[in-house]
Amino acid sequence: MMRLLWLSALACNGNAHALLNYPGFKVWQKEFEWLYHPLLPSEYSFKEVEKGMAEGCDVLLVDGTLEEGYVKYRRPYMELLEHYGKQAHHIVTVGTCATFGGIFAQGGKGRSGLHFRGDERLDIFKNFWQKSISLPGCPVQPEVLAGTLSLLKRKTDIPLDPLRRPKYYYAYTVHDGCIRNEYFEYKIDEHRFGRLEGCMFYDHGCQGTYTHGSCNKILWNGLGSKTRNGQPCMGCTEPDFPKENLWQTPKHMGIPARMPLGVPRRAYLSLAGIAKAFRIERFYTPLMKEE
Ligand code: SF4
Ligand code: SF4
Repeated sequence: MMRLLWLSALACNGNAHALLNYPGFKVWQKEFEWLYHPLLPSEYSFKEVEKGMAEGCDVLLVDGTLEEGYVKYRRPYMELLEHYGKQAHHIVTVGTCATFGGIFAQGGKGRSGLHFRGDERLDIFKNFWQKSISLPGCPVQPEVLAGTLSLLKRKTDIPLDPLRRPKYYYAYTVHDGCIRNEYFEYKIDEHRFGRLEGCMFYDHGCQGTYTHGSCNKILWNGLGSKTRNGQPCMGCTEPDFPKENLWQTPKHMGIPARMPLGVPRRAYLSLAGIAKAFRIERFYTPLMKEE
């Protein structure tokens, strides 16, 4: 059994609820034991956790934005992190708030993730850096959290990117696997929210081409994703989340200001010129009749 301890700071509980909606949850959790989780049967009460009584933590799961001076029940949260972080073999930041600061970091000073404030690296828990894994997402996909913990349990070596995100899940972009790729290639947006047609990169602010994540490779709860269902990706796995002015594409002289990951502007412009020279009727025809 691998023993898990879940510590929430400033959090909305979205990550915990996402995990509870993991379709394979019942089978998955048989291999794990909760020393403490705010919503699941646990070996210790929070009062005991707060007193430092929970022992044998293999993985410390950090959820929510950290705040200087934040007291959880009666004990400074940073002290709790220090105490359980030292005994844990691994520390996993669950979601964007715990990783980069996220939404709650917008609302006050002295707020951050465990190792980052946005993309700025912090020193406060630098002794935990080597054993930390970042799982950003707002919330994190349950398959990503459950899968990472299963890999840790099997002692699998997990390659990480410079932000300590597992490459298995974050080497891809949300654009990979999106069903709107044909529309992207031919530069067709013409999108309305909820419709199946159109790529949302050109006018509706879709950030899928430069957002690292598996949302279109591992479908949410086996069903879908934002972009499959007709909503632009908001880039929630990245250090600069949340951004302002969502749902619109900033442009310079009609060209999207931010290019897809790794694509030079010159290459983009050359391909755009060719693609726009053709009008493929199929892409302008609704896939389903609207009432
Ligand atoms: S909607 Fe977004 S993710 Fe889908 S193809 Fe267009 S840019 Fe890529
Ligand atoms: S599609 Fe984009 S905004 Fe939505 S969960 Fe995935 S990474 Fe986050």
